[in-house]
Amino acid sequence: MANQEDDFKKVISHAKEYGYVVQSSEIYDGLSAVYDYAQNGAELKKNIRDYWWRAMVQLHENIVGIDAAIFMHPTTWKASGHVDAFNDPLIDNKDSKKRYRADVLIEDFAAKLEAKAEKEIAKAAKRFGDAFDREQFVSTNLRVLKYREQADEVLTRMARSLESEDLADVKALIEELEIACPISGSRNWTDVKQFNLMFGTRLGATADSSMEVYLRPETAQGIFVNFLNVQKSGRMKIPFGIAQVGKAFRNEIVARQFIFRMREFEQMEMQFFIRPGEQKKWYEYWKDARMKWHLSLGMGESEYRFHDHEKLAHYADAAADIEFRFPFGFKELEGIHSRTDFDLANHEKYSGKKLQYFDPELGEHYVPYVVETSIGLDRMFLAVFSNSLREETLEDGTTRTVLRLPAVLAPVKAAVLPLVKKDGLPELAHEIIEELRWEFMVQYDEKDAIGRRYRRQDAAGTPFCITVDHQTLEDRTVTLRYRDSMEQKRVPINSLSGEIHREVDVKEWLKKASV
Ligand code: ATP
Repeated sequence: MANQEDDFKKVISHAKEYGYVVQSSEIYDGLSAVYDYAQNGAELKKNIRDYWWRAMVQLHENIVGIDAAIFMHPTTWKASGHVDAFNDPLIDNKDSKKRYRADVLIEDFAAKLEAKAEKEIAKAAKRFGDAFDREQFVSTNLRVLKYREQADEVLTRMARSLESEDLADVKALIEELEIACPISGSRNWTDVKQFNLMFGTRLGATADSSMEVYLRPETAQGIFVNFLNVQKSGRMKIPFGIAQVGKAFRNEIVARQFIFRMREFEQMEMQFFIRPGEQKKWYEYWKDARMKWHLSLGMGESEYRFHDHEKLAHYADAAADIEFRFPFGFKELEGIHSRTDFDLANHEKYSGKKLQYFDPELGEHYVPYVVETSIGLDRMFLAVFSNSLREETLEDGTTRTVLRLPAVLAPVKAAVLPLVKKDGLPELAHEIIEELRWEFMVQYDEKDAIGRRYRRQDAAGTPFCITVDHQTLEDRTVTLRYRDSMEQKRVPINSLSGEIHREVDVKEWLKKASV
């Protein structure tokens, strides 16, 4: 645990030190769960956004992108269910005065039981060695069965109570399980209350003409209300998708995990409109497609897992998360939801406008069903950033900090470094930059000894260093150094563009998502 915390602290301080992420309004001591992206962070975020947009919009003939406003007519949020149901159950500890999500306290408890079961399994695997039959052990070992059964019971009861709005039972469960506040250690809890996560504000200048509006808590509704506009103007045929990237706002109860849970964040969502009855097929399709997209970045298959939902949101008939191994354990990175016709049918009801599609093959009108893929851009940023940050011990026993960002996402692709600040080397370095900057983000760096500059670029995540030395003046070759392998080779200036392209070309990366 302590290690996890240390690792996470390192991620946060590295993000600040290297110009990725800082607290918002830091000079005023920051604003809770609100963050700014600095020069490198803005580039990395843009590259992730682009990587998603290309995969979803550019590479799909039947998916188009839109950019809807953050403010929407307030009835939108009645229709979507957010006014009535976008709540989290909160509970306060009377001694520490800390506020928690009641469901998270219970889920953490269940996760501990699961961890105990895993421990038993690991112990047995060690004991039995090669002869270990995991499946048999898991299905017969009494301890494992007991832990899992108990976790199951706890989660099922919580889901049932939340579903039926029985908040007293949620509290009773917390008490029965003897869950204590991690800060005070006490079990002195308040009642569980529902808390709506939407931010409200007023639109319009005069008191009587202004209306209460919300900052959107998800981008999806901007897609639903535009469903017919896009379908008609784009002559889209079902199945088709509408994608969008944009800000969303949630007044999260507990927000202590850096950019994992923010009050202002960015979502990348795609709603895929399909024939009713085909949701199972498309749900599986998008689960698979989205996992491939993640794996194409090469961060390791073992870093991801699916988690199927027990407790379904008010709009879903099936839902799964793609979880990622964050520095604090496996947590949701992306959601894939089969939303049925919940949203469109409700918008029809509340707006009085038909939101139907005429299917020429079936010769009938219907309200399409929807499968959604929804990923937090900031969470993806944290996944990429934390996974890439490594402390490495080199062959000579020294260590280096390296940010092994997938090259396609790296903010700066190459740094151009004159070996010394004289003899015309800086001028030549600038000449190379002038040529490369048409294609890539490149940077000039002349301060400190060359070894230190390499280390600085390693830590900043730059995949290539290009060193200009005296030999360059004679034969127009430079040293090209690779961040990950630290290999160096001599290449002519005019082949630099090709060398860099090979590593950062989005086509090569995204091709891996389509196999
Ligand atoms: P969680 O259970 O973690 O609160 P959620 O299930 O409410 O998330 P969704 O409503 O499905 O999340 O939103 C889709 C995606 O948006 C999530 O998978 C996550 O990546 C991102 N997201 C949601 N809330 C936040 C937040 N407060 N900060 C950053 N990203 C978020």
